[in-house]
Amino acid sequence: MSDSPAGPPEKSSSQSPIPSSAHATALETAAHIQAGRLSAVTVAENAFERIAALDDDIQGFNLLTRSLALEAAADIDRRARAGETLPLLAGAPIAIKDNLNIAGLPTTCSSRILEGYVSPYDATVVQKVRAAGLPILGKTNLDEFAMGSSTENSALRVTRNPWDLQRIPGGSSGGSAAVVAAQMTPLSLGSDTGGSVRQPAAMCGIVGVKPTYGLVSRYGLVAFASSLDQVSPFARTVRDAAALLQVIAGFDPLDSTSIPDRPVPDYLAAIEARPDIEGLRVGVIQELDGEGMQAEVAASLGAAREAFEAMGARVQPISIPSIRYAVAAYYILATAEASSNLGRYDGVRYGMRVEEAGMDLKRMYQKTRALGFGPEVKRRIMLGTFCLSAGYFDAFYGKAQKARALIRHELRHAFDSVDILICPTAPTTAFRLGEKLNDPVSMYLSDIATIPVNMAGIPALSLPCGFDAQGLPIGLQLLAPHLGEDTLFRAAAAFEARSGLRNLTPGRLAAVQGAR
Ligand code: GLN
Repeated sequence: MSDSPAGPPEKSSSQSPIPSSAHATALETAAHIQAGRLSAVTVAENAFERIAALDDDIQGFNLLTRSLALEAAADIDRRARAGETLPLLAGAPIAIKDNLNIAGLPTTCSSRILEGYVSPYDATVVQKVRAAGLPILGKTNLDEFAMGSSTENSALRVTRNPWDLQRIPGGSSGGSAAVVAAQMTPLSLGSDTGGSVRQPAAMCGIVGVKPTYGLVSRYGLVAFASSLDQVSPFARTVRDAAALLQVIAGFDPLDSTSIPDRPVPDYLAAIEARPDIEGLRVGVIQELDGEGMQAEVAASLGAAREAFEAMGARVQPISIPSIRYAVAAYYILATAEASSNLGRYDGVRYGMRVEEAGMDLKRMYQKTRALGFGPEVKRRIMLGTFCLSAGYFDAFYGKAQKARALIRHELRHAFDSVDILICPTAPTTAFRLGEKLNDPVSMYLSDIATIPVNMAGIPALSLPCGFDAQGLPIGLQLLAPHLGEDTLFRAAAAFEARSGLRNLTPGRLAAVQGAR
């Protein structure tokens, strides 16, 4: 698996005395800061230098928050010098998807319609990240309102894949994925409604985790499809991703869908307690085993299956027949919810307003929305509104709800006989910029493996499992039962240790890396 044309992945730099390079993991960086061997301010400054060197090409950031980051870093340095025991990730930098609110800063959702909007408050996850001492570097690009799979629907910029600048980074959290892959930051946050964190993680050769619905607060996340949205971490190793989920998880009275009365488990401790996965029951999802997939993606799933067997796991095929309805049902339910959630952008309360002399209120709504929303967002609002309209409601929305119930039932039932399920994260590796722009249905189909997870509300993780002939990374998706994140991380950490595919450096960035 690791003898790929992209070159062997670099091993972690844990032997080196001070991991000041951009390649260090978040946990390594934080440990050195705690021990006084490294200053958080230096780490943040290095990150901004790296961003200055690379982001003209990558275009991952919508906004940099330099003074915010340096203030937070200086505070961490003071506390480290005073001998305080710091939170686990203190001093490790992070980037935030630009559909999460940070007080006093614009939230653009990469849409024109939010031009001029400044958030008066922090999202709960942002508050938690700040309380844990992670300096925030900036806000990252996304498909407008998180609708898309390539980040090309952004009204602000085109983000490029660090493995090949002619290719998409995946989406909708493409900015958050690209800046982690390019080692501008070890960590970032995205949101995942139908695959928007796992699919870009796969395309960029990093780790992305969609937590159980309700585990992470959505307060301050701009809503797309509220029954599916979940804030989700990116990192370059499984342990970094687990540590970040630990920071952002937990009950929040400000989110009515937040799961109450349950302390957040210690995911890192769960990995260390049982690193070996002998006897773990692994199901391979039959409907996603090869058919319709790029040949190298199918082959790497086969190799992953063998890797699990070699580690002593008991691997068996599992059939989830209703998966074939997932994409169709998703594009009814998600667009229906979006058409309602996006009704609030009418030029009155948030962002831009188009006004001309003599214009009445209705005309102002029309002009503002016509100019403010991009074509994909308009397509979805119209689709969703149509599906909810009287006379069509039962035929579309009602039927899609039934399909969702079936998918949820079959997936949850599968965990009666296995501990985790595996499948490719996406049917292909990163495609070329523009390749699918004029074919929305083919774009939609790239989410076939990720959408069922959101519909069932269960957790899933994508991590690198190989490369295609062009040297582009391939992602493996692991699915676990409701609140089964500890099992998910254990299995992923075991696979990562065996494959050696962790903390990867995209080939073309190696030169920049060496210069640091
Ligand atoms: N690509 C899917 C869509 O376009 C999923 C997006 C997401 O998870 N935010 O809706």
